[in-house]
Amino acid sequence: MILFEKVRVIDFSLPSVSPPVDVAVAQEGDGAGTLSGIVEVGPSLAAKYPKARRVAGKYLSPGLVCSHTHLYSALARGLMVDIAPSKDFAQQLAHLWWRLDRAIDLPILESSALAGLADAAACGVTSVVDHHAGPQSIDGSLTVLRKAYERIGLRGLVCYETTDRNGGEGARAGIRENLRFAREIDADRAAFAAGKKGAKLPLVDGAIGGHALFTIGEETLAAMGDAVKSSGRGAHIHAAEDKYDAVDSRHRFGADLAVRLDRAGLLGPKSIVGHGVWLTESEVELIAERDAFVAHNARSNMNNAVGYNGLLHRHRNVVLGTDGMSADMLEEFRFACFRHRESGGPWWPGDFLPCLDRGNRLLERYFAGVGEPRSFGKVEAGAAADLVLWDYDPPTPLEGANIAGHLAFGLSSRQVRSVMVNGQFVIEDKVPAFDSEGMAAEAREEASRLWKRMEERS
Ligand SMILES: [Zn+2]
Repeated sequence: MILFEKVRVIDFSLPSVSPPVDVAVAQEGDGAGTLSGIVEVGPSLAAKYPKARRVAGKYLSPGLVCSHTHLYSALARGLMVDIAPSKDFAQQLAHLWWRLDRAIDLPILESSALAGLADAAACGVTSVVDHHAGPQSIDGSLTVLRKAYERIGLRGLVCYETTDRNGGEGARAGIRENLRFAREIDADRAAFAAGKKGAKLPLVDGAIGGHALFTIGEETLAAMGDAVKSSGRGAHIHAAEDKYDAVDSRHRFGADLAVRLDRAGLLGPKSIVGHGVWLTESEVELIAERDAFVAHNARSNMNNAVGYNGLLHRHRNVVLGTDGMSADMLEEFRFACFRHRESGGPWWPGDFLPCLDRGNRLLERYFAGVGEPRSFGKVEAGAAADLVLWDYDPPTPLEGANIAGHLAFGLSSRQVRSVMVNGQFVIEDKVPAFDSEGMAAEAREEASRLWKRMEERS
């Protein structure tokens, strides 16, 4: 058991900052059948939990959630491969990203995921929602990702991006991998619920992934819908990242992107629509009606020059993602705020705070069941023990009313002191519990191999 002593609790959802309190966290193995999670929050708990290891700190908050990223792109940092200049987004995909994903094999994927997840942990990100592509190595890829999450100790969702761009068998293999992984997780959860010895609740679940809709025909889309239905998961797809995707949908299929998704049964409370930059008002309404999430990735949209989501403030469930840029969610939050201000939109940093927090609602919709925490993103009894301890000494008062201002203009990942996921320290006093140096060294070797394989596949 861990007892955080005299910490001020930052709550992003209320929002509020508490007076100094103690937070008691149960860890797996504390006693027979003990599950990890926050057990109590109160003014003075040391006497009540005398055996707990006491941890001092300044501010304690729920861990941050990255609601859309691509761990396979972590080894593209500083890429030294001859990439032809691209005149538009479709060319960027063809010249760079589709060449990169074709060059990925499972050892490269493993190293890439470890590098991306280690980076996320260092930034106080405790849950990562990934969208994977690697058409030469589809089978088993989601389990490779899961193992990387487990080695670093992070929570998250993974999926494989189904697409027709590699032919019918490629599309079927994508769906097969998504379904295989969902069954793997279902089996582990069932074993836990049945009290099977040694069974653990998985930290990772799967969604049904799909690439941008301009690469998914009706037959494959319908098969994705079947997979969503049979697995009980949601879809995680790219839509309207670039205007081309929206135009293609109306031109070739005679329907808006959101309508195509909805007809196939891909819009629901567990679904994530990546980007949605070029969705129209009626599509925004349809997505809201279905209670699906829209993942906004300001930095990536700026970098790809795909335009700005002028209807962002009209969406019901905006979440924030990094889309494979650095894993730092506070930096992403800042870019989201500043790019919106520049666009002349109506939102202020305080309006982006619910977007940062909302990734927790996504987690709640996937991690709900026997033995799972009752809530995510809260420091309260029954909530997941996914927490960040901050070494923050603000030069101005920090209160509930100005948390967003501190996030936009002050608090940064530099101040992450310790990171806990599911009651276990992933980083404590700035020291990772995993072999970060060894993983980085291996990642550099795999990066060189990946770049060489890209040159061979130009
Ligand atoms: Zn993406």
